Amino acid sequence: MTHLKTSTNLLDFDAQDLEAWCGERGEKPFRARQLLRWIHRFGVADFGQMTDLAKSLRATLLSSASIEAPAVLADHVSADGTRKWLLDVGLGNAVEAVFIPEESRGTLCISTQAGCAVNCRFCSTGKQGFSRNLSVAEIIGQLWLANRALSGLATGRETGQRPISNVVLMGMGEPLLNYDATLKALRLMLDDNAYGLSRRRVTLSTSGVVPMMDRLAADCPVALAVSLHAPNDALRDELVPLNRKYPLAELLAACHRYLKVAPRDFITFEYVLLEGVNDRPGQARELVALTRDLPCKFNLIPFNPFPDAGLSRPPRDAIRAFAEVLQNAGIVTTVRKTRGDDIDAACGQLAGEIQDRTGLAERNARVIPVLEVSA
Ligand code: SAH
Ligand code: SF4
Repeated sequence: MTHLKTSTNLLDFDAQDLEAWCGERGEKPFRARQLLRWIHRFGVADFGQMTDLAKSLRATLLSSASIEAPAVLADHVSADGTRKWLLDVGLGNAVEAVFIPEESRGTLCISTQAGCAVNCRFCSTGKQGFSRNLSVAEIIGQLWLANRALSGLATGRETGQRPISNVVLMGMGEPLLNYDATLKALRLMLDDNAYGLSRRRVTLSTSGVVPMMDRLAADCPVALAVSLHAPNDALRDELVPLNRKYPLAELLAACHRYLKVAPRDFITFEYVLLEGVNDRPGQARELVALTRDLPCKFNLIPFNPFPDAGLSRPPRDAIRAFAEVLQNAGIVTTVRKTRGDDIDAACGQLAGEIQDRTGLAERNARVIPVLEVSA
């Protein structure tokens, strides 16, 4: 069935687009800023509530525009406060957004693609293949709806609080392979009339799409996390196939270039620990040598198993020993703790439940491991 679009979804627009859209309708640029504030800062979905807009503009909006985030298929809250939304992005595809509350911050982890073409060996999103890029509305819509849900805007019981202080693009998909939509969504996150987050509080995670790292540096240098996973090309070629195109020397050179404009003075390296594959102390020493002249931190992620992965999580002692090699070399190293265990437990479990009921694809689901703690 084809879906006939009758109105323009304003969640697809960044400030510039909104200004152009208003301009085409004879409206001044400040109207676009008002609209942006209503939509994103105040989380209002109903044009009728936008009381300081002229009646004529409200009528135009009502007849030709909409504010549409992805539909929520499931909304689970874990005992530890982690909250996860499963979102319908059409044609049987679902993606996840996860909110992780901590004492000093609240982090929303969002997705940028349905599936992923990079096909990392240990990632169930990747193993299931690529479906499609998310639109700006689908990416920023995750922040929009989480913000509404968490601050009570969605229910009219506003708390006056803004629980989301940080955003990480570490959900499903490779953000730098959906560059244009991701860039607009990033600009909305940073816009003072929208979410007003600082560049330090927005982190993009990439598997290492080198030319796009340079574009991001030029266009919108937010904090950067790079998924390393191996200390040499031979192993990284196996784990992250994109390494064959952009090998480690090129990736590290791109990190050096990025650091010149980055909002933080280090790059975060993510490293999924896989038992017997990349978790040996010798490999940790190789990492120390590899990153010797690059200011960086390491975030070790114990592997999150999923059915038929053929890989396992190293025992606690091995994780500790690996972290210690890095720490003893003076590299700040954290081990990521999996939050929301009771709602994520086994990988793909939530989407699996949904599939049973609605036929939605399980294929895009995976546990998003979150929260870092000191090793
Ligand atoms: N595509 C981007 C961002 C999304 S993946 C990237 O690869 O960086 C976010 C993080 O989750 C990556 O560091 C990825 O390696 C990690 N990850 C993927 N599958 C995992 C699993 N099964 N267990 C633990 N971490 C995983
Ligand atoms: Fe894609 Fe990231 Fe998964 Fe690799 S780890 S397949 S890049 S989502």
